[in-house]
Amino acid sequence: METLFKQREERVAAKIEQPSVDPGLKLGASEALREIRGDLNDVITQDGREAFVLRYLQQEAERFRADEETLDALEADEPRTRPLCTCRDSGCALKEGRLPVIVQEASTLQQGIRRFRHEHMGDPVVLDDAEGELDSKIERVMQTYDHIMISLSNKIPIDEVRRMQSEDTVTAEGDESTAESEA
Ligand SMILES: [Zn+2]
Repeated sequence: METLFKQREERVAAKIEQPSVDPGLKLGASEALREIRGDLNDVITQDGREAFVLRYLQQEAERFRADEETLDALEADEPRTRPLCTCRDSGCALKEGRLPVIVQEASTLQQGIRRFRHEHMGDPVVLDDAEGELDSKIERVMQTYDHIMISLSNKIPIDEVRRMQSEDTVTAEGDESTAESEA
């Protein structure tokens, strides 16, 4: 996964550096890169992804039993209503906002989550949610790289590219290959 990000990052960087690129488009590209910087830290390395999942588990466990004051501190509007995990184990790591040991000790996050799901006697809802969040971050980062490439290659402002792409997704929902044009 890291190579995948690296490749796109390098391609985008090389493209932006080309002297022929319009300054306005370059500016748009740099801003788009700045917007995903936070997401990048969460997705690009194994450690980053693990840290994100842990943060998410902690936050959701707090939201789950939150009162008004905690909600304010969390900058959240509502308590979590979905269960954290459907198991009967009161010491379940997920209910305590911890990363299960089996996940910590696995060689990759994905493998750990898969193993936990398999062995745990319950539906680890909050872990599924965390993975979903992570996937949308990855999607957002990849999409931004693609949008920048399309913008610079076709000399179209990035906002315009985004608008066109979001219209595309509405018509071709579920088709993930739309962004793969620049192979
Ligand atoms: Zn559980």
